[in-house]
Amino acid sequence: MLIVKKFGGSSVADAERVRHVAGLIAEDVDKGNQVVVVLSAQGKTTDQLIAKAKELNQNPSKRELDMLITTGEQQSVALMALALQEMGYKAVSLNAFQIAMNTTRVYGNARLKNINTERLKMELEHGNVVIVTGFQGVNRYEDYTTLGRGGSDTTAVALAATLHADRCQIYTDVEGIYTADPRIVKNARKLKEISYDEMLELASMGAKVLHNRSVEMAKRYNVVLEVLSSMTKAEGTLVKEETKVERLLITGIAVDKNIARVSVIGFDDVPGKAFRLFDLLSRNNINVDIILQSIGREGSKDISFTISRDDLEDTRRILEENKEMLGAKDIKYSDQFAKISIVGAGMISNPGVASRMFEALYNAGVNIHMISTSEIKISVLIAERNVALAMEAIHDRFNMASHL
Ligand code: ASP
Ligand code: MG
Repeated sequence: MLIVKKFGGSSVADAERVRHVAGLIAEDVDKGNQVVVVLSAQGKTTDQLIAKAKELNQNPSKRELDMLITTGEQQSVALMALALQEMGYKAVSLNAFQIAMNTTRVYGNARLKNINTERLKMELEHGNVVIVTGFQGVNRYEDYTTLGRGGSDTTAVALAATLHADRCQIYTDVEGIYTADPRIVKNARKLKEISYDEMLELASMGAKVLHNRSVEMAKRYNVVLEVLSSMTKAEGTLVKEETKVERLLITGIAVDKNIARVSVIGFDDVPGKAFRLFDLLSRNNINVDIILQSIGREGSKDISFTISRDDLEDTRRILEENKEMLGAKDIKYSDQFAKISIVGAGMISNPGVASRMFEALYNAGVNIHMISTSEIKISVLIAERNVALAMEAIHDRFNMASHL
């Protein structure tokens, strides 16, 4: 069997953890499997490297940043190979250049294009455990790129897909995918299975267990993912196309606190205003999430929208500079909100899910500021201070702690 195993930063944080993970890898080798390992940088290394860059340059160029942070993964893979060799196993570490992990040009957020598996296969045939740097790639200028924070998951899925691996295991510091973040909701329950679509919605709604592009890719190439803990032997969660074991109305609740709201007030109620506003933002690469336009009153209307908090300062500057062109009376900015989303394929065939969610929030005394929905997801914007209260209330209302 060919197994791809990915370990996140906390799973390889120090020598002891590296040794422990080496032990898990060795168990698979002892059973006669071929193993490809993908690693993240140790512990908080990536954050620390970014902080170091900022000590010297408040606005570091993305190219140099990628050159810097890719060293984190390179340390992990070499250390893991050393640990395995010390235990008497054959192991070799490889970086993105050595396996031609080709990506698009964009630094900091590149997409994988193709991988040359020749070297990888050769090393496997020679009986090596192959340990590959996650998160990094190489672009057409032969520069390092990175796949976006958390991108090692995507490296693992890409390798599993191109090598036609029998299993793709993503090890983290939690035991799988939960109905809600167990640190916030006490009764949160671990799921046995979840579908790609549900996982995708949860991942992009702020559940940080899997990089959302990794789920997209797993769906596209039909790679079944096993999310499990490197610390315990507990059974994890399978992410796959069709789930049979559980038929739940709501599979999970996610929270995203990286939200800011902008309200543009007092536009003339004439065509073209929304276009001007969002065209300006998109030309400045500001991603907009929920949008709400009020009905026109006395020839005037308001438009509110949410963005990521990281974009708040840029947005403020751009809008203030263009206030006259936009023709707005006032613009308000706030970073006191959070977005809570419920996700579940069961919603498609069950009306009344939204009203149940709103009822739960009403009973908990939580005010809703914005709402957006898709086929299998409902999101609401609420005050950040109400997050825990709201999540508990929704989790209870849908009986998510128990089976059905
Ligand atoms: N080390 C990278 C990060 O911290 C990639 C990863 O962990 O997946 O974002
Ligand atoms: Mg991660």
